[in-house]
Amino acid sequence: MKILILLSIFYSSLSFGFVLIYPKYELRDATKTKIKLSSEGCTANGIPDSKIVEAIKISIDFWNDAPESRLNLKYGGRSSASLTDSRIPVNEIIVGCASLPSINILGSAEHDRDNGSARVKMNSDVYTGSYSDASFIGTMIHEIGHGIGLAHSKDAASVMTYSANGWGDRPKYISQDDVDGIVYLYPNEKEIGGLAGSCSSFANEGGKPKNFYLDAILGFVFMFLFAFVFKKIIKR
Ligand SMILES: [Zn+2]
Repeated sequence: MKILILLSIFYSSLSFGFVLIYPKYELRDATKTKIKLSSEGCTANGIPDSKIVEAIKISIDFWNDAPESRLNLKYGGRSSASLTDSRIPVNEIIVGCASLPSINILGSAEHDRDNGSARVKMNSDVYTGSYSDASFIGTMIHEIGHGIGLAHSKDAASVMTYSANGWGDRPKYISQDDVDGIVYLYPNEKEIGGLAGSCSSFANEGGKPKNFYLDAILGFVFMFLFAFVFKKIIKR
């Protein structure tokens, strides 16, 4: 199973290549990380907490949708930490709004490498007044992807792409490239039934994997042998 995962990651990295933020950055504990509202949230630019919470929860559902990874993000309410704090608490990704250098930058993510935590800034100059909900949610999913440890990908299906993409403002579901990235960072050590397709999972149950085709051929051979012997007995 491990070889299969490694091979599939190797193959997809040849074709597209998810990229890591820093080789040494990862969440301290991918099973305990909570995404929280920063202490300031986005109220200064008129976005109610409920809107950020909705986008955080959609982002969590998006990134948790890979059972091959142990990543299990949870919503954690409001953090005591502000976006301007120099340190971000362990096991937190905090999300809020701040003015970024250009309106072409929709959001940004910064890392506390020692704590394995991150902050996500949504650009308050873009997301103010009448803004696109889909863009707000899509940007948050992308920035949380950075917070998890992924950099930009060349795969147009990936939410981490930085160029023309195949999904518009907001992807509907996670791409294989994004899954490969988080499986690389946070593999699930538990065996996943059906990872290689539900057809093969039955063959792996109970010890040594069996060869389905060999079983089938042997089955036919024994069936004919039995029929042959049975005929001989009847003839007597
Ligand atoms: Zn980005």
